[in-house]
Amino acid sequence: MRKYVIMGVQGSGKSTQAAMLARDLDLVRITVGDMFRWHIQQHTKIGAHVRRTMAVGKLVDDDLVESMVQERLQLHDWNYGFIIDGFPRSRKQAEFFLESYDIDAVIYLDLPDEEVRRRVLARRLCAGCGMDYNLINDRPTVEGRCDVCGGELVTREDDTEEALATRLREYHEETGPVLEIFRRKECVVIVDARPDAITVQQEIRHRLGLPEYVEKDD
Ligand code: AMP
Repeated sequence: MRKYVIMGVQGSGKSTQAAMLARDLDLVRITVGDMFRWHIQQHTKIGAHVRRTMAVGKLVDDDLVESMVQERLQLHDWNYGFIIDGFPRSRKQAEFFLESYDIDAVIYLDLPDEEVRRRVLARRLCAGCGMDYNLINDRPTVEGRCDVCGGELVTREDDTEEALATRLREYHEETGPVLEIFRRKECVVIVDARPDAITVQQEIRHRLGLPEYVEKDD
């Protein structure tokens, strides 16, 4: 059983790295931002509540985030463990989390703000199937169209210069203390997120004492 948290600023490759780890190690992947985006798409009450907050790049209130994560973990479908992406993001969330769960490691992907800006503003998302693209290194074959379903590629509502500046500021203010809390537990592994995804993945595995990542075709 492995319980990991993956942290890093937007655009640091958290979801790519979490997906690579989760697939190989049979971990349940919990992505808080995706849970909120699902609620917005489905027009639920929670979706209506968080939509504006998310659009301007602010953090959703702790109580709501905590109850969503708690409900998700209480399903206990994580026989081999879990990896949480996008939580905790405040001191309160971190304290709440550590009261209930022992974490094996916090993987912190370190990326300078300038590189974040360059990567995030190049992100595109398929409006049809949700597939991610990046105009720097993961371009679609036909400009503006999804390779998988042909849907229109759009910019995430919160990937604007203005929202990004807010997110970066909030990130440094809120997430710094979270890292400190975990550091006291001596479970933080800091990895340079600038190299390509596979190099970053190998470094994470090396630092966690896991077997090397082997690329698969599927
Ligand atoms: P992300 O996809 O991780 O960039 O998250 C998108 C947005 O969801 C954030 O800008 C926040 O508005 C909200 N969000 C995600 N995770 C959290 C969290 N742990 N605490 C508060 N808000 C969150």
